Amino acid sequence: MDTHAPSSRIGGFHKFNVAERIDSVAKFAQLDDADKALLRNTGNLPAELADHLIENFIGTMNIPVGIATNMKIDGQDRLIPMATEESSVVAAVCNAARQCYDNGGFVTSMSGTEMIAQIQLTQVPDPQHARLQILERKEAVRDMCNACDPILVKLGGGFRDLEVRVLDTRGGTMVVTHLIVDTRDAMGANAVNTMAERIAPHIAEWTQGKSNLRILSNLADRRLARARCTWRLADIGGAEVRDAMLAAYHFAEADPYRAATHNKGIMNGISAVVMATGNDTRAVEAGAHAYAARSGRYSSLTAWEVSAEGDLVGSIEVPMAVGLVGGATKLHPSAKVALKILNAKAAEDLARVIAAVGLAQNFSAMKALATTGIQKGHMSLHSQNIAMMAGALGEEIDLVARALVELGTVRLDVAEEALQRIRTSKA
Ligand code: NAD
Repeated sequence: MDTHAPSSRIGGFHKFNVAERIDSVAKFAQLDDADKALLRNTGNLPAELADHLIENFIGTMNIPVGIATNMKIDGQDRLIPMATEESSVVAAVCNAARQCYDNGGFVTSMSGTEMIAQIQLTQVPDPQHARLQILERKEAVRDMCNACDPILVKLGGGFRDLEVRVLDTRGGTMVVTHLIVDTRDAMGANAVNTMAERIAPHIAEWTQGKSNLRILSNLADRRLARARCTWRLADIGGAEVRDAMLAAYHFAEADPYRAATHNKGIMNGISAVVMATGNDTRAVEAGAHAYAARSGRYSSLTAWEVSAEGDLVGSIEVPMAVGLVGGATKLHPSAKVALKILNAKAAEDLARVIAAVGLAQNFSAMKALATTGIQKGHMSLHSQNIAMMAGALGEEIDLVARALVELGTVRLDVAEEALQRIRTSKA
């Protein structure tokens, strides 16, 4: 063991100011002045604000924001901000949207804006009896929940319903209460967690059980965003392309190995808008994947069919717990601008737009995979990334990237050679 290794036990780190934390980390990791200056440059997120968003804050990390064009949703043209570090994601949405724009674009809807909070009871002597005891007190539960959040109630939200499930687990029988709460324009995690914590001791007392967890479920299946769209055969390149795309979908529907990647592509689009608007990407991702496994086997979040006219019809249904208030949505300056660009009128509106983006992303990914393959589209931006990794600067980046595309080999060693050649020819 290296006795001189620096220690990660830094007492009171959270109480340091940002400059002190940077110094402390710099000492630990031997950061130089340039590294420290980079950390101090927090871009468009003021350090004072960021320091209040998370713990032990030392810096920010910029993610590119791109705009998806061509989107027509429920008859309205929208520009969609997408925050992603991955090449081809924004282009995929633009391409899919262009190919359905003249046919009317996307039609969306939503099942509601209700979230579920779970209260776990263990050691309940008579679980079925307890279940009814809880259900009988629905009005008392409603009053206690609504008293937790008068603002939400004033805005037309609040408690909606009560469900109680008896679960057989390895640790014995548990009684699980679901509070169903309409959280309107908030994602609602804090709102429903507060309610669950408030109700839990009462439920434990009524049933003589022991209350344990009190937390929302990210399987927000009462908050499903839906989008559908028809791509005309002539707009997508004919029946051969359509059938290859359908075969790709059937593969994803039948096979979890393929479905994971198929849905990852969908989430490339979804998470980018969730991120750009300051919403919780992990909450939406957890909900999406849990919903994709609702039948007991993990499968596709989208469905693809052929219309009576022979056109390609796509649809998506996915839990979409996003808000326009709460979390970072109203605090992060970039999120505020993104929401302005989107001109979302309500959380429901935002959720529906995001579902349409997910469907568009899936269309493009399937089309690329089923026709030219994914690498062709990736090539140009990816080659620029590789060029930069090889050390290309300024106009060298494009020159090296073009050389890689021409050679048809996007590899670091090839980029280094190309850069060397360019520099030698200039010298
Ligand atoms: P919040 O508590 O910051 O804001 C919601 C509150 O804003 C509501 O309770 C209401 O009182 C008020 N409000 C004002 N205008 C409103 C309107 N038009 N509609 C609805 N409410 C309005 O945020 P939240 O949405 O309750 O929680 C979101 C945050 O919780 C996110 O940052 C998320 O990352 C975090 N979180 C997530 C999880 C999880 O997903 N498992 C768990 C804990 C916390």
